[in-house]
Amino acid sequence: MSDVVMGAAEFLALLAAVYAVTVLAYFILGFGITWVNARNPERRIQKNRRGEKRRAQEIRQSLASILVTSAMVAIGLFSQWKGWTIGPWEFSWLWAAPQFVLCMILFDAWFYFAHRLLHTKPFYRFHALHHKSVAPTVWSNDSIGLVDTALSQGYYAVVVFLVPFSPVILILHRAFDQINGTFGHAGFEYFASKTARHPWPMLCTTYHDQHHAEFRYNYANYFSFWDRLLGTVSPTYDRRVAAIEETAPAITLKRAGGSQPAE
Ligand SMILES: [Zn+2]
Ligand SMILES: [Zn+2]
Repeated sequence: MSDVVMGAAEFLALLAAVYAVTVLAYFILGFGITWVNARNPERRIQKNRRGEKRRAQEIRQSLASILVTSAMVAIGLFSQWKGWTIGPWEFSWLWAAPQFVLCMILFDAWFYFAHRLLHTKPFYRFHALHHKSVAPTVWSNDSIGLVDTALSQGYYAVVVFLVPFSPVILILHRAFDQINGTFGHAGFEYFASKTARHPWPMLCTTYHDQHHAEFRYNYANYFSFWDRLLGTVSPTYDRRVAAIEETAPAITLKRAGGSQPAE
């Protein structure tokens, strides 16, 4: 086999592995969080909308867009493995936490500006599909157009040429982002707390839920930093989080006696 054919086969094997694991994670998280949601109906963020009816469409689209996400991750890891990139740093537990946080900060900045770009007139046609989910659910996280996904997840294919992150950090970050994104679209709030609102830079599910419901606020992914700095944070966000802290009942894993779970 020539080197090129061999390389292509290796790349496809890596892509297939990343895709299989991500699809598995998508369904485990989706069904797992749905199970918790059914036991906590009062924690639904948009009380009068039921995004669940879009489930079949969203799963179909997700199976396509996860292939694009997986391709971005595979390009990054493959390029590192072939020695085409800078570094990478050797993995060490001592440096894992600061590297991970740096990876989150850089991804958040990438995501914020890519997302702002996708909301401009020439690019919005690539992003419109994701906004069909007005009340997002666990199935909406990856229900994204393919060009949109390539832009927002292109981070993994590019960052390896700029910062020598260990591949372990990149994989851990991707896993974290899948979990964070599924909770972020769950439509049910479990993370409202003082640290999820001003003056802290962290956020909770309500943040991105408002992006879907109100459309022109809250573009960031992990931190409210960029939105606050550039004036795109929803004016009601901090108040709403505080209200949920005060009024939401305790999170339970027991089904309420006699009452029907909301789908
Ligand atoms: Zn958007
Ligand atoms: Zn979204």
